[in-house]
Amino acid sequence: MEIRIEERCPQCGAPIVLQESDHLLTCPFCEVKSLLRSRGPFRYFLPPATGKTGDRFLLHVPYLRFKGAIFLIKEAGIGHKIIDTTRIGTDLPGLPPTLGVRPQAMPVRRLTPRTPGRFLPLAIKASAILEKVVHLSPLRIEERKVSRRRMQGMGGDQDLFSYDSRMEITEYTAHGRFLHRAFIGETISFLYLPLEVQDERIVDAVTGQSVITLDRAGQLARQSVRFRPSWKTRFEATLCPRCGWSLDGEGDAQVMTCSNCDSAWSPGKKGLAEVQWRMIDGDGAPLYLAFWRITGTIPEVGIVSFADFVRRTNQPMLVRPEWQERPMRFLVPAFKLPPKIFLRVGRQATISQWRLHTRPGRVRDHLHPVTLPASEARQSIKVILAASTASRQKIFPFLPQMHLRPSAVELIYLPFVDKGHDWYQPESGISVGKNVLRFGRRL
Ligand SMILES: [Zn+2]
Ligand SMILES: [Zn+2]
Repeated sequence: MEIRIEERCPQCGAPIVLQESDHLLTCPFCEVKSLLRSRGPFRYFLPPATGKTGDRFLLHVPYLRFKGAIFLIKEAGIGHKIIDTTRIGTDLPGLPPTLGVRPQAMPVRRLTPRTPGRFLPLAIKASAILEKVVHLSPLRIEERKVSRRRMQGMGGDQDLFSYDSRMEITEYTAHGRFLHRAFIGETISFLYLPLEVQDERIVDAVTGQSVITLDRAGQLARQSVRFRPSWKTRFEATLCPRCGWSLDGEGDAQVMTCSNCDSAWSPGKKGLAEVQWRMIDGDGAPLYLAFWRITGTIPEVGIVSFADFVRRTNQPMLVRPEWQERPMRFLVPAFKLPPKIFLRVGRQATISQWRLHTRPGRVRDHLHPVTLPASEARQSIKVILAASTASRQKIFPFLPQMHLRPSAVELIYLPFVDKGHDWYQPESGISVGKNVLRFGRRL
């Protein structure tokens, strides 16, 4: 589901429509760029039907919006799924448990101090809502099943068996016992449904349909709150903190670059934080894709060097003596991909890291936007490790206890060449379908 947001340029007031994943607003009229920031999740509301004048009392009901990938690791394998939903955040009867595709029907609006009406607080914890969503979404895990069959009339006194192995897909709930679970690249926001009091009824202010009996209205109104200052979205300038040049980035970019001083920046808790970045010079490559390169150790499974990683995960390759000195680095795609491809690309990049010789980054054309922040990449380390291992027994049982001690996080850009339907990275052998890359922008 794609949600669009009706916005106004903070500089010239021109109307702009943003995508849900956009954090960077570039006004097509005055060309001013602004970075959208808020303390918590962004908050939007469905615009009430217009046409009425005078006093309207609107009461906004919160829905939690979640869009992202969930990964689940069990003994049987790694399951994954994209979750894209809105769930009600109160226990009011008469209201739909989910908004379904309604937010897609028209652009939603951002909550501001001028948004009319009052707001019902979240009556169910966000984590509990998310757990419910997960519970309702079984994940499919592909696993090899071996079956044994007695062979009739053969072997005389002894029983003879035939063994048969095939891949089977089993559905698991992500709720029960698991070795590891991670949400990667998720967007969480609040979406409010406005209700309105109309002649003895409380109606959905968008459709006009009756939803709750009026005797509950007073009680609800007492629970409701005004717009809180902490909900406010701020629009910040996007000037390079080092040289003052205007930073470049597309709407959904998590990292902005400065073409004047070749620096890279990502929005941190206290303004823009510098990102250390490197690249392989592709000599006019038509596309560069970014990876988060996270250096660190996992003592619980004895991984300190790249050699340790190759041995522990039983990679079918000979350990070179110099790998003993090479620190272990995980390479995580810094752009959103469908979960299955995210695992494959992360695994290929991590295993082939010794082939990648990078140099300091320089801003150039065809740098694909970074759409997965470093914090999300860090959360996917165990998943990438699990996907990389050729021997589950040596990694899977340790997943619950292990954690990475990171020592450095950098961004590296790798050049890709055009192979018709795919983009191909010569050093690592990674290929990414062009349609898959486009699809990833909408995740
Ligand atoms: Zn403008
Ligand atoms: Zn600069």
